[in-house]
This record gives sequence, C-alpha cells and structure tokens, in this order.
Amino acid sequence: MAGHDSEGARQGARSTVSRRRLLGGLGAATALMATGIVPIAASLGSEPAAAADPTPKGTKRQWAMAIDLRKCEGCVTIGKAPQCVEGCNAEHFVPEGQEWIQVFESEGAGGHNFFFPRLCMQCENAPCTKVCPVRATYHNGEGVVLIDHERCIGCRMCMAACPYGVRRFNWGQPKNPPGAAFAKYSPEYPIPHRKGTVEKCMMCAHLTKDGKLPACAAACPMYAIFLGDLSEDVATNGKEVVRMSRFLADNRAYRLKEELGTRPRVWYIPGHGQEYGHTIDGEYPEQKKPRSWQEQGSTIEKVAERHAGHAGETTK
Ligand code: SF4
Ligand code: SF4
Ligand code: SF4
Repeated sequence: MAGHDSEGARQGARSTVSRRRLLGGLGAATALMATGIVPIAASLGSEPAAAADPTPKGTKRQWAMAIDLRKCEGCVTIGKAPQCVEGCNAEHFVPEGQEWIQVFESEGAGGHNFFFPRLCMQCENAPCTKVCPVRATYHNGEGVVLIDHERCIGCRMCMAACPYGVRRFNWGQPKNPPGAAFAKYSPEYPIPHRKGTVEKCMMCAHLTKDGKLPACAAACPMYAIFLGDLSEDVATNGKEVVRMSRFLADNRAYRLKEELGTRPRVWYIPGHGQEYGHTIDGEYPEQKKPRSWQEQGSTIEKVAERHAGHAGETTK
C-alpha cells in the first residue's frame, strides 16, 4: 500500500502543529494575511430574509471552503473510511444513510481515479432559498445557507431546486442521541432531527461563528479541507494559512456547475491525493463505509466536551 512514508511525515507534523493555536479564531490568521488583500466578490442571493436568522447582520465573516484534491486520497492510503464523513456524522448525529458530506471516487480525464468530497456548496445565488414557500431556508449574515426546521413543512421544493443533490429528507423519525429532546434547537446546530423536514450541511455554522473549523475539516487527517473567509481573503485547514484568492488562482481552482450561475462558495483544487502518496497506478483497498454516529459512540456530552476543550477537533 502506498503512502506510509507520507503518513509518517504527516503524523510527525501533526504532533508539532497545534490546531487549537491556529484555530483560536481566524482573526489571528486574518491579521497576518490582511495587508493588500482584494476581497473576492461576496454578494448574496436575493431571497427574502428569514424571520428566524440568529446571526447578527453586518458581521465581517463570509464563509467559504476550498477542498484540495491534491491532499484528499479518500482516506484509502490509511485504510480508513473517509474521516470527514465520520467527523460530520459524529458532530451532527446525522441520520444513518443521510450523510451531509459524501466522498465519491471518480475517474479523471487521464483515466486515473481521484476522490471528491461533496457537501452543500453554500451557493451565493442559491436556487433552494428562492423556492421555499415558507422561507425556512435562507442565508445567514455570514453567507451560510441554513434551514429552520421549525418552519420547514417538508414540501421538498428546495430539494428539487438544488442542482447539487445535497439536501436530505427525513421520511421517518430519525434516531436522536439521549438528551436531544432537551437540546436548545437552532438552525445553526439542528438537534433534534425531525421527521418530515429537509436537512443538509450548514457549514458547521455553530463552530465557524466561534472561528473554529467545521467538523469535517478538523477530522480530515490529510488537511484537505480549508475554511475560508472571503471578506478577509484568508483560509486555513488548521495547519497552514493561505491567502484565499491567490491559493485558488495559483492552483486552478474550480467550482461545480459554475455555468448555472449559482456562485458556489466551495472551490476545488484539482488533484488525486498525490501529496499523501496516492498514485495514479497504485493499488489500494476499497474505500470503507463511514461509521454512523452510533457506531462511533457519539453523544451530546462528548460533542460538548470537544467544543469546550478542543476547538475544531473532532473524532480522532
Ligand atoms: S477530505 Fe480528508 S478525510 Fe475526507 S476523504 Fe479526503 S483525505 Fe479523507
Ligand atoms: S448546494 Fe443546493 S442546498 Fe446548498 S446552497 Fe446550493 S442549491 Fe442550496
Ligand atoms: S461543514 Fe459541518 S455540516 Fe457541513 S459537511 Fe462539514 S462537518 Fe458536516
């Protein structure tokens, strides 16, 4: 199996880099990167404001993501299921089979395979928000598309409108962790899950508002997922800090289905996991099925402990 050397180097790097220091907030990174920055356009869609937006307007953050496919090797070189998916499952108690992030294995133009994590694109011009008849899905002040499950009537028009297939519908009553009934519901952290409502990735709005990495990014052992702030033109994967516009331009970043005019806030940098030893012609085990939150033993208490003690860290 390829990738042991790089894995060793990566583990060594991990022990010397404190994510907590880096993620005390993107503010510190921002201060380092701020000089001479030209912000990427961050205009929002034109849907009506929702009645239940908990995020203060006028905040400077405008969240985005860059997924570096040169680093993502589907976690096959380390013989694990995609850790980003497991991190999300554990953080959000995602109903089984309804993953909010999925990692697909695709074939590139050169006939080689590569891995491709897909989550909500947080479109600036989001079709989903425009069709909701009760305004249950909307942008918050930081550019994140949320769903208010107390308003959602389950008509699924947003699912039909989404060109990326990332929304999920709870046909039955999903399993919730013990204590979920007493959790304080928020569209930024929608617990408990409810029958008859639509769910999706909300870019971990409950974590990013405190300057912490989303759970999938924090769980990625290859540091493939960057959280970016378009208003400050900065991004970090918890290990390195980059100027986002330059990072995207220098590495030929692209967005999915740009021709639709949805203006996704998730960019991809082409690659096939080569930075961690995933070769085009190497032989690797099949990608493993991600564990559900139950299989990982996730609980509300464990999630709360992680938030309190380990900013941005998840299931590792
Ligand atoms: S993004 Fe990271 S955690 Fe997810 S499959 Fe790729 S390497 Fe693994
Ligand atoms: S990817 Fe789909 S659900 Fe997400 S903002 Fe865009 S249209 Fe809406
Ligand atoms: S950003 Fe958060 S909600 Fe979205 S896929 Fe990652 S862990 Fe899940």
